[in-house]
Amino acid sequence: MRIDLHTHSRVSDGTESPSELVRAARAAGIDVLALTDHDTAAGWPEAVEAAREHGVALVRGMEISTELDGHGVHLLAYLPDPTYPPLVEELGRILDGRGLRLPRMVARLRELGVAITEADVHAQSGDAAASGRPHVADALVALGVVASRDEAFDRYLSAGRPAYVGRYAAPLEPMIRTVAAAGGVTVIAHPWGRSGRERPDEQDLLPLVEAGLSGLEVDHQDHAPEVRARLRAIARALDLVVTGSSDHHGAGKIGHDLGVNTTAPEEYARLLERAAAAAAASGRRTPEVVR
Ligand SMILES: [Zn+2]
Ligand SMILES: [Zn+2]
Repeated sequence: MRIDLHTHSRVSDGTESPSELVRAARAAGIDVLALTDHDTAAGWPEAVEAAREHGVALVRGMEISTELDGHGVHLLAYLPDPTYPPLVEELGRILDGRGLRLPRMVARLRELGVAITEADVHAQSGDAAASGRPHVADALVALGVVASRDEAFDRYLSAGRPAYVGRYAAPLEPMIRTVAAAGGVTVIAHPWGRSGRERPDEQDLLPLVEAGLSGLEVDHQDHAPEVRARLRAIARALDLVVTGSSDHHGAGKIGHDLGVNTTAPEEYARLLERAAAAAAASGRRTPEVVR
């Protein structure tokens, strides 16, 4: 059984529609797929329909932009009730923050002599819930300013680069509690990714586990083998579920093909057990896995 628990559609910054993504997963031999667009459940209905049609098991999820002591942390949330008001409110704040950020990033780029407009960015983001840095990067590629998304981030858009603009992210620990109260489970995405800062570190994780954190995404393209080994040991020590996933973005991210990393069936089963417990404890109407 091939299980990929972290993918993006065009509803955030992927390049495929939710149904195209499900079809691509079927073609790639994925049996269980999670759709985890940034800060939104807007792609779920289309993905559910496609999953039924193509016989792919679908886990409804999202990747929430959070922060811990000023460091950005991506939090994967699986199977929460998307109508739970505190969750809706926080996702709204995050998406609003992105909306405000775009004009400021465009203004910075123009100050740097790059002739880019908001319309150039919207031309890239299409039906995405909000225009984010990847769309600005795509616009820079389309304008011939840089050759790739990676170059756009390295030269302009990453934290510390000249066109970087901060934005609202939800505090991590309260968000873990909010997702639990919505009947869902949480996994920290690529905890020690390319940033080079090992946050959250081992010390940080204990209170997060107490807040209800269920797992760590260990097998991710941004993690070197020795990082994976260390994270796996920490997960074992803290009784956290270990996941592996592609973080697929369609054509938007090179080296993240569907199934490039996968989650072991027994770890997936543990995650579903915890999701069932969270759903029961919350009393919310939570989404089932589509089978
Ligand atoms: Zn992420
Ligand atoms: Zn992602």
